[in-house]
Parts: sequence; C-alpha cells; structure tokens
Amino acid sequence: MKLRPEEIGSIIRQQIEKYEVQVEVTEVGSVIYIGDGVARVYGLDDCMYAELLEFPGGTLGMALNLEEDNIGCVILGPYKHIKEGDVVKRTGRIASVPVGDALIGRVINPVGMPLDGKGPVKADKFRPIEKIAPGVIYRKPVDTPLQTGIKAVDGMIPIGRGQRELILGDRQTGKTAIAVDAIINQKGQNCICIYVAVGQKSSTVANVIEKFREHGAMDHTIVVSATAIDPAPLLYIAPFAGAAIGEEFMDQGKDVLIVYDDLSKQAAAYRELALLLRRPPGREAYPGDIFNLHSRLLERAAKMHPDYGGGSLTALPVIETQQGDVSAYIPTNVISITDGQIYLEPDLFYAGIRPAINVGLSVSRVGGKAQRKAMRQVAGQLRLDLAQYRELAAFAQFGSDLDKATLARLNRGERLVELLKQDQYVPMPMEEQVVSIFTGVRGYLDDLPTDKVRDFENEFLKYVRTQQAGVLDAIRKDLEVKPETEAKLKSAIEEFKKGFKMQYGLA
Ligand code: ATP
Ligand code: MG
Repeated sequence: MKLRPEEIGSIIRQQIEKYEVQVEVTEVGSVIYIGDGVARVYGLDDCMYAELLEFPGGTLGMALNLEEDNIGCVILGPYKHIKEGDVVKRTGRIASVPVGDALIGRVINPVGMPLDGKGPVKADKFRPIEKIAPGVIYRKPVDTPLQTGIKAVDGMIPIGRGQRELILGDRQTGKTAIAVDAIINQKGQNCICIYVAVGQKSSTVANVIEKFREHGAMDHTIVVSATAIDPAPLLYIAPFAGAAIGEEFMDQGKDVLIVYDDLSKQAAAYRELALLLRRPPGREAYPGDIFNLHSRLLERAAKMHPDYGGGSLTALPVIETQQGDVSAYIPTNVISITDGQIYLEPDLFYAGIRPAINVGLSVSRVGGKAQRKAMRQVAGQLRLDLAQYRELAAFAQFGSDLDKATLARLNRGERLVELLKQDQYVPMPMEEQVVSIFTGVRGYLDDLPTDKVRDFENEFLKYVRTQQAGVLDAIRKDLEVKPETEAKLKSAIEEFKKGFKMQYGLA
C-alpha cells in the first residue's frame, strides 16, 4: 500500500479546521451575605441589572444592586437552605414572563406559574418584564374611547384607548369595583384585559376572579396575582410582568386594558427591598428612584401608530390614599405621571352615592378627544349642571328663602346625582347611557321625586329596549343623537312618563 502524504495532510487539515472546543463557561460567584430575602454575591463582575441568578436548589434571585465589589440581589422563592459561601450561577437571562394567547383565561403569578390549578401555562414565547416604553415616533394621539360602562366615568371622565387614568381613594371606597366593571364591560369589545393584583388578600383576589367568571369576563382576561403573603420581590415585579404580557398583544395590533391594583402596595414592597439592600432612604423612607419606578411602568401604556401595528395599552393604576391625603408622596407622583384621575371619596360612599366619584377633583386630560359625539352632546351640560349644583349646595345650607332659579338648579343637581348612581356589575352600553343622561339634562326628571329617579331610569330603559329599540340602534350606529332621533327620544320619554306618573300616583 502506497502512502499519499498530501491526502493525509488534507484530512488532518480539515479536522483541525472543524475542531472547536465546546466548553461551557458559566460565571459563578459566592454568597457573602444572606438574610431577609436578599443576598450579596461576590465574583459576578459582568452581571446585568435585573438578571436572574441561580442559587443552590434551583432557587432564583434577581440582581438589583450592581456595586463595585459585590451584587445585591433579591430572592424569588424559599431561601432558608441558602448559606454563606454557596455557589451562585449567572443565567444570562433577564427576568421574564410567558406571553401570548395561551395566557387568556388564566391566573398566574408574576413569573408565569399557574395559580388556577389548570396545569402549566403552554406559552412558547417569553418576554423580559422590563422594556423601554415606545418613543413618540411610534405613537399616535388617543382617539378611540375605552368604554367603562359606568355613566359617571364615560360621561364626565372619559377614557381613551392608550390612556393612563389613575383610580385614587381611601380604603373601601370602590376603587376595585370601577376597575372590575371596566373589565366586565370589555366583553365582546375586542379588548384583552389584564388584572394585576398586588399585595391584596388571597380571598379578595379570589372574589374578583369569581366575579369575572360569573359575568363571562374570564374569556378575555388574564389575572396576574402576587398576594400579601408572597415575598416582596414578586409584588415588585408583578406590574412589570403584567405590562410585558400586555405589550405582546399590543405589538400584535390588539387593544389591551391593564389594571394595576394597587401601586401603593407595589411601592411599599419596593421600599422594603430597597431598605434591605441598604439603599439610602428618601422621602417617607422610599428610595430615590420610586418616581422612576412608576413612570417607567406607566409610560409603557401607549396608543401605537398604525405603521407600527396600531395596538393600544390602556392602564388603570390604582392608588390607595390615607385619610383622603392626595398630597402624600406616592399619590402626587402617580397623579403627575398619569393623564388624569378618578377620585373616590369616603363621604360620598357612605352617603350612598356609589360610585363615590368626586367630580370636582376628577379629570381626564386626553380622553375627551376620544369621546363619542352622542355622549358629548349630553355630557357637556351634565358637567355644567353638576358644577353649579356643587357651588350652590354648600351655600344653600345656610339660606332658607332661595330664589326660583337657585331652587331649580338645586333641584336639577339632586336628580343628576341620583341618576349617576350605579350598581356594581351592571355596566351600561354607550347608547343607553346617552339616553339616560339625556332624560336628566333635558329636565325630564325635574318634576319627579328624587327617590323615584332610579326607578324611572330603570323602567324607561326597559321600555326603550323593548318598544323603541330604533332609538338605541340609531345612536349606536350614528354615534351621535341626530335631530330625528332626538325627536323620537323626546316623544318616547313624554309618552312613558305619563304612564310612570299614573303608576306611582304622581300626576
Ligand atoms: P380596598 O381598599 O379594600 O381595596 P376598594 O376601594 O377597592 O377597597 P371595593 O372593594 O371596590 O373598594 O368596594 C368596597 C365595597 O363597596 C365592596 O363591598 C363593594 O361591593 C361596595 N361597592 C363598590 N362599588 C359599589 C357600587 N357602585 N354600588 C354598591 N356597592 C359598591
Ligand atoms: Mg380594592
């Protein structure tokens, strides 16, 4: 056999070229301090902010403090077994959540673990929980309404798709109720809803989910829950996780409504972490970047330009005030970040005015542009009448002999306040709201006793739905109250009112 050196040489050369060393390099560090759910790790010089770190036993941590010679991280799970000197591995992944259609109808925790006992979430895509909000080039002004189904909100504090509207008030004033009604009202409206529960009791969250199920809202809703007993890091990341889930749908061009209930508890969780990580405390012991925390979260709400999909993410953050103090640190921060607020007041709530919206202190800075013309036609007068009423009501407590015009205004105001009361879980479609407010602002309720206003409203709407459906259809289709519709509506009201008065012996 003859050796051919050139052939052997070429084979060896080929093998040398193909030879690649397959070594896995993982950076490892060691724990130098552990306690209270935070750890300090030495030796991970290239670690990224918010990167996940792996502790023994598979427990994950998230790096939050990148210091010169060590890393401060929070631990997302049980940490009793971790000791000083334990090995910590970098994962190279930023904290992320599963996203996509598989999540709809599910209840998960902020890292994507199922909480509804329906098995693992079958998502094939993950998204980092932190993302820089879309810039101004990618956005478009708010131009489509997001109907909450609540007369007082849609009429006077309209919300547009892509807007951020704060729901603010003391404890037990109906904050969650407004958010829940808004979600229920999105049924069949092509809007995916995300309810992020932060730091609430498990039973409260379970009740909300039960209500969603009862009203068929779970079919378009995702619940992300970190309850009061969960570790603080989970409470801190929950709203970001929710935002990431919402952005996935927004980037597909869909409309999304996200509720953060509530951000006061997220701020408290973040304060806890920051203090444990020994960051310097600032005002009310919150760390200096608490404003940044809320603004980078809420900035992610957007109405996208059609060139970039045209989707939207509407955010309804909730903040709990202490004894009505809207000028405390966190409320003022979030008020300044959002595009308006719905302020709920205990005094109104206990007086039976529910939803307990203080119309004077509530605004929507951009939603008015998105309001439907039909609503604008009746709502302008509503705001005006109520403002006049408030001004006079305080003053009229002292006087007894009031002139006729003042009495008429007081009279009107009382009836409008009554008309704006609305029960929970009965969101109203836009056209019915218009009809209902129309009866009030055009004075058809002025000669009815105040305690009959809600009966009148209920029965009249029933009458219109069955006997005068054309009126509702016309408003829904035209999006405005055309003169011929108005004429029909007026005669319907007059017709119905005669019967109503007879029935209750008011004629
Ligand atoms: P918390 O501070 O505990 O989170 P909250 O401000 O979210 O409270 P809710 O839980 O929404 O308040 O409501 C408090 C109570 O008021 C509940 O029992 C709820 O059923 C009732 N409530 C809220 N809105 C209305 C309404 N429009 N009509 C009647 N009852 C209402
Ligand atoms: Mg609540």
